[in-house]
Amino acid sequence: MSLYVVATPIGNLLDMTQRAIQVLADVDVIAAEDTRHSKSLLKHYGISTPLIAFHDHNERTGSQPLIARMLKGDQVALISDAGTPLISDPGYQLVRDAHAAAIQVIPIPGPTAMAAALSASGLATDSFLFVGFLPSKLSARVAKLQTLRYYPFSLVFYEAPHRIDKSVSSMIDVFGGQRKACIAREMTKTFEQIVNGTLDELLAGLLSREIVSKGEFVVIVSGVTDNNVEFDDRTLLTHLLAELPPSKAAALAHKLTGKPKKAFYELALVIKDE
Ligand code: SAM
Repeated sequence: MSLYVVATPIGNLLDMTQRAIQVLADVDVIAAEDTRHSKSLLKHYGISTPLIAFHDHNERTGSQPLIARMLKGDQVALISDAGTPLISDPGYQLVRDAHAAAIQVIPIPGPTAMAAALSASGLATDSFLFVGFLPSKLSARVAKLQTLRYYPFSLVFYEAPHRIDKSVSSMIDVFGGQRKACIAREMTKTFEQIVNGTLDELLAGLLSREIVSKGEFVVIVSGVTDNNVEFDDRTLLTHLLAELPPSKAAALAHKLTGKPKKAFYELALVIKDE
């Protein structure tokens, strides 16, 4: 009685792990986001385990019958269309219900677009925030980005081709165009592109079609750092430094803006030196 949460390829079928193949072949049933889509993966590996549909729309009602099966002794595997289930994909309810029913949940790790993109991005990977998809409505998107504006670690976004230009534009509006970023497109597939640059440069690349607006995208944006505190902050700090020592000016700027005190303090020292 176990639930296997199985990662599958994000494009290249050769990225399927030996363990994933074995588990999918051995379980009693595979709960799949899109059974038609997953049939071709299973066929490729000669796996004939029965599939049942388990997606966003039936996650609540679909979970309990699977729990009941596992409690009777069945082994169930959960897969999504691509990558790791539950990472911007269905499965949260099922995993929660399995834990509540004391069913063992066993991850079978493998591809996920966010880790692949981070690993190739050249941006800081020691700490990062996985944001996933931004809201499609402009006001909600900007509001979400505002909450991330002063986050000091790399930000990882998923994006669809018809929204990539708009999302990068909104990032520029909120973060400024000079933030370092990376677009990872169609990873592991024929037309893979990993492009680094400032947000301004990446938007120019998208608009000129140098970065093709087709396929699947991960966007990674570097977090706020001592070097990318914006010009407005420098002006504010310069005024405060006319009246206060660096530590007090930094503390007050932090109070006024909510941005990291350390970044202000270091910028204050730079301004003093100039
Ligand atoms: N569960 C998946 C994972 O572990 O990455 C993510 C599923 S989510 C519905 C699909 C999004 O993941 C795409 O819109 C894109 O942002 C990202 N993605 C998936 N495959 C990708 C690929 N091969 N290259 C770039 N991004 C990809």
